[in-house]
Amino acid sequence: MIVDALPLSRALVDRAAALRADERVVGAALGDARTRVLLVDDGAVATDGDGAVALLAPGDLPHDLSGDLPRDLPGDLRAEAMPDDEVDERLLLLGRDEDGVTYLGLRVGGPHPAPRAGAAADVLVHRRTSTSAHPELPPGLAWTALRTVGADLSALEAGLATTAVALDAWHARHPRCPRCGAATRVTQAGWVRTCTVDGSEHYPRTDPAVIMAVVDDADRLLLGQSTAWAQDRWSTLAGFVEPGESLEHAVRREVLEETGVVVGAVEYRGSQPWPFPASLMLGFHARATTTDVHVDGVELARARWFTRDELRDAVDRAEVMPPGPSSIARALVEDWFGGPLGR
Ligand SMILES: [Zn+2]
Repeated sequence: MIVDALPLSRALVDRAAALRADERVVGAALGDARTRVLLVDDGAVATDGDGAVALLAPGDLPHDLSGDLPRDLPGDLRAEAMPDDEVDERLLLLGRDEDGVTYLGLRVGGPHPAPRAGAAADVLVHRRTSTSAHPELPPGLAWTALRTVGADLSALEAGLATTAVALDAWHARHPRCPRCGAATRVTQAGWVRTCTVDGSEHYPRTDPAVIMAVVDDADRLLLGQSTAWAQDRWSTLAGFVEPGESLEHAVRREVLEETGVVVGAVEYRGSQPWPFPASLMLGFHARATTTDVHVDGVELARARWFTRDELRDAVDRAEVMPPGPSSIARALVEDWFGGPLGR
């Protein structure tokens, strides 16, 4: 199986779900010098000079970004439970490790910009074409996009950053109640939004998507090129699961729609959270029963079969840029290839 090899899928500290209902848990954590806080904004996390995720003590948070956070005082000085309106809605409880260290995320950006008119709001694998400016960080810290740095992070950092980016994206896209349109407020330490009018509770979404290494009887791999990509970028096919559809059906439908290739047997190979903004990538090995390729020209500009030698030579000559090292797409390609690709 490939699950454990995926950079964004590695183990996380205890997610501490049982603590979320305690309205004082975040304030109390901010009063504990052992707590570590990760800064998150629009798909990126603050990293330090070594490229690691910056995990800051509460006292080291840049005041320009954090402002005055409502922290509980320790021990006998602890105030009564803070009223709801003193809970800072930017704070996310990410987890607590076995030594009692609490990990928080702090959302420091403003509203994320809406996609330009006509652009899909939730694209699956395309790179973002426009990026908003992140808030300025103090010297020594820098914003780093999770999708570019995921492969270089420790398991702890990858787990914390993936969760923080996913929650941040959900909050940014769901300020209002989907039932009545009223404003919602953040509850459960960042894991629920509750409607201020009808009291309904709304939970972070995870949208299933399938991604597949399609292989023919000659053991060639089918790769495609999105219409939105550079000429040298190739990847496995992928698509969202539709309502009422099984995973296996979604694999066969997406491959047929995008390339005209018919898929028979489908085997699950592993999964990866892909919080850009809210996908769970479910990876498959899919056996093609036909080989004629006809791209739709809408999602895919080109698609073709590669032998191992052809792919290795194309990568070596920089004619093919394989999927990024953090991605399940890369893992699926290398699973078929039998080892690491050159770049
Ligand atoms: Zn409502």
